Amino acid sequence: MHACPHCQKPGVRDPAVRWSARENPAQCTYCGGLSHVLASTSSAIAMFTWVTLIGGAGLAFGLGSVVMAVAAVLVACAGNVWMWRRCELIPIDRKSAQTANRVGWAATALAVMMGLFS
Ligand SMILES: [Zn+2]
Repeated sequence: MHACPHCQKPGVRDPAVRWSARENPAQCTYCGGLSHVLASTSSAIAMFTWVTLIGGAGLAFGLGSVVMAVAAVLVACAGNVWMWRRCELIPIDRKSAQTANRVGWAATALAVMMGLFS
C-alpha cells in the first residue's frame, strides 16, 4: 500500500500505483482521492529493470555463469519493487484526470487520422 497524498493514509494499492498515470490515476480506499506517479518515474523504473536484466543476461552469457543471471534477475526485481515502494504520488483532482484522459484520446485519435491520411 502507498501513502495517499490527500489524506496521508496508506490507502492506495500497489498495482493501481504501477499502472497509474495522469489519464488513469489510482484511487485511495480511504478518501477516494486520486493520485498518480510521474511518467518520468515509471519510465525510469522500467528502464532500470530492463537495463539490469539485459546487462545481467549479457554478463551471465559472457561469463557462462548461472549465478550471475540469477543475481541480475534478483537485483532487477528487488530494485523494481523497492523503487515502486518509494516513488512519490502526485495528487490529481478528478477534473484534471478527466481532461488529461480526453486530451490523451484526442491525441491518439489525431495520430491515427494523420496516419490514415498521410
Ligand atoms: Zn486518501
